[in-house]
Amino acid sequence: MPQTPALHAQGAGAPLEPTSIDRRELRPDDVQIEIRYCGICHSDIHQVKDEWGGSIFPMVPGHEIAGVVTAVGPEVTKFKVGDRVGVGCMVDSCGECEQCLAGEEQFCTKPSVQTYNDRGYDGEPTYGGYSGQVVVTERFVVRIPDSLELDVAAPLLCAGITTYNPLKIWGAGPGKKVAVVGMGGLGHVAVKIAAAMGADVTVLSQTDSKREDGLRFGASAYYATSDPETFKTLKESFDLILNTVSANLDLGSYLSLLKVDGTMVTVGAPAKPDMLHSFMLIGGRRRLAGSLIGGIPATQEMLDFCAEHGIAPEIELIDATEVNDAYDRVERSDVRYRFVIDTATIGA
Ligand code: NAP
Ligand code: ZN
Repeated sequence: MPQTPALHAQGAGAPLEPTSIDRRELRPDDVQIEIRYCGICHSDIHQVKDEWGGSIFPMVPGHEIAGVVTAVGPEVTKFKVGDRVGVGCMVDSCGECEQCLAGEEQFCTKPSVQTYNDRGYDGEPTYGGYSGQVVVTERFVVRIPDSLELDVAAPLLCAGITTYNPLKIWGAGPGKKVAVVGMGGLGHVAVKIAAAMGADVTVLSQTDSKREDGLRFGASAYYATSDPETFKTLKESFDLILNTVSANLDLGSYLSLLKVDGTMVTVGAPAKPDMLHSFMLIGGRRRLAGSLIGGIPATQEMLDFCAEHGIAPEIELIDATEVNDAYDRVERSDVRYRFVIDTATIGA
């Protein structure tokens, strides 16, 4: 079996360290990808620390993969050697259930196979993008448009689709007031995408430290949530709130910022349950919703949208030796705004 260098964690909360992993021989519909860049998502940290429970170790995280095709199986029709491609959070699904047929593979009833910290339908553990190479069935490979550099394209494979999908579904666009809560990896991409969709965007960040950046990314307003006046000033202001925060929030305070019939969509995935008083929904007929990444057709659509609108995540490109420090910085909200690993430095 072909071997490739990788970074793995050997147990819950263990540091990422170099190793070597096997990738499967190409099946007829498989694409072999030389990984060039992989983003660090906060979900990687939740899972390495086993904050959601059920983590499988050793774990090779990484589901924001950008690279180049190096080989294809005989039945592959969509890709050829040399193509610039991406892989996100999923690498397989049944392809037959109602959700798969609708292009919502993330909700596959079998269910879908995650890029890492999961097992494929063959029972083998899946290993993610903190590695030199990956083999994926072509249905879960997307094309990276020529105008997007591979390093900045990588974070779009999770942060991009996770924010594009709910913004589109809940109608971010001209005439809509949208707030983005938390301006980290997901949040900063959300600001750029919502602004490109034509919405009037407000950033709600813990402190004032990212104000200039938020406005530069396309927001028309920026408020620090550490200032209690913010919640009085912005009462009943928004049609849509996208919550990208990795920790528990006082959801009621944020719901109070919605207009009548407004919706707050949560994509942030803190380990512990949230508390909510029903009155915050009843008054104002407000809605609280959630959203999980997005399907493969929507992922391709998002990449094409970002290319068309010149949207690129802001990244800090790092070597393999810097990943553990990067995890600490993400947890301190000290990321500007996505760490991306130069995967050539893994095992170098
Ligand atoms: P991130 O880069 O760490 O960004 C999260 C941001 O939330 C921080 O930068 C910070 O922004 C804010 N924040 C952090 N702690 C906070 C606290 N205690 N109170 C208030 N605000 C706080 O993380 P990410 O990669 O964007 O991921 C965000 C969350 O989305 C994670 O939980 C991740 O697992 C989840 N996720 C979900 C999906 C999905 O499909 N639903 C997909 C990907 C990721 P400010 O400094 O601006 O306040
Ligand atoms: Zn992610």
